[in-house]
Amino acid sequence: MGVVLDGKAIAERIKEKLRQEVTALNSRPTLAILYFGTQASLLFKFAQEREASSLGIDIDPERIVDDVVPVTQGAVERVIQQWNQDPSIHGIFVHQPMPPQIDAQRISALIDPRKDVEGIHPQNSARRFFAKARIGSCTALAVMELIDEALKLSGESLEGKEAVVVGHSEIVGRPVGMLLLDRLATTTVCHIATKNLEKHVKRADVLVVAVGRPRFIKGGWITPGAIVIDVGINVVEGRVVGDVEFEEAKERAAFISPVPGGVGPVTVMMVMKNTVEAFKLQQAI
Ligand code: NAD
Repeated sequence: MGVVLDGKAIAERIKEKLRQEVTALNSRPTLAILYFGTQASLLFKFAQEREASSLGIDIDPERIVDDVVPVTQGAVERVIQQWNQDPSIHGIFVHQPMPPQIDAQRISALIDPRKDVEGIHPQNSARRFFAKARIGSCTALAVMELIDEALKLSGESLEGKEAVVVGHSEIVGRPVGMLLLDRLATTTVCHIATKNLEKHVKRADVLVVAVGRPRFIKGGWITPGAIVIDVGINVVEGRVVGDVEFEEAKERAAFISPVPGGVGPVTVMMVMKNTVEAFKLQQAI
């Protein structure tokens, strides 16, 4: 029976360190959040506000909704440009998914990379290690925190392990793949066109799943002793579940992250960490 990785406890530990860092700053960092008024984005905004306020980070929220007229690309771009130019804003976070009429890739590329606390600007996601940027994809960094917790408990290293990532999105799958490569794991990134997914998953010493389909990865596919990190968030009959068959996978894995309470709380904390990094980066210039 695998150890269930406690995302809330990991997030609390990161928060303690961050609190000390923020106290030592000469002024308060400000995080600007653009959200679109859906239930999911409201819940995420509350979580971000709660963590920010307990850390001494100010929040500047902006809500654009389709109430009367549809959200336009121009309206979103104007908000981002205004925040890019405002020296009192240190971090920018745009809730995803954006409305379907919005070109999300164009918005990601418009955010000043030094203020991109979600790590979605191309310079901060796929190219993080070549660019030597200090900010990276908040979700990918959260995944690595959970993997590191498992490695700390088992006393092992990532070097040479078979790592399999399922999902190749700009904000999760790809940056996770880069981070795993950076640590010398032998990394495979699977996606919608991958043939025989089961064969790849069965090889994984470290498995990261970010697809967005409930119970997509079967428990019987997990290598005994693997580290399993489930990024998926799905609502099934009013309950939040991940992409992995949790109970069955837990029987075989050495470590597994639950949904909820795994990657989610750590991701929120990595946004705060990126905000503090962004603040420092801007103060240094
Ligand atoms: P996305 O829709 O952008 O990407 C989904 C990925 O799944 C794609 O890369 C696609 O190639 C892959 N995929 C789809 N069908 C597949 C199949 N049959 N076989 C193999 N791969 C397949 O999603 P995303 O933004 O990367 O998010 C993925 C999930 O993670 C969602 O449930 C999302 O809600 C969740 N998420 C969680 C957090 C968190 O902090 N916990 C953060 C971001 C996203």
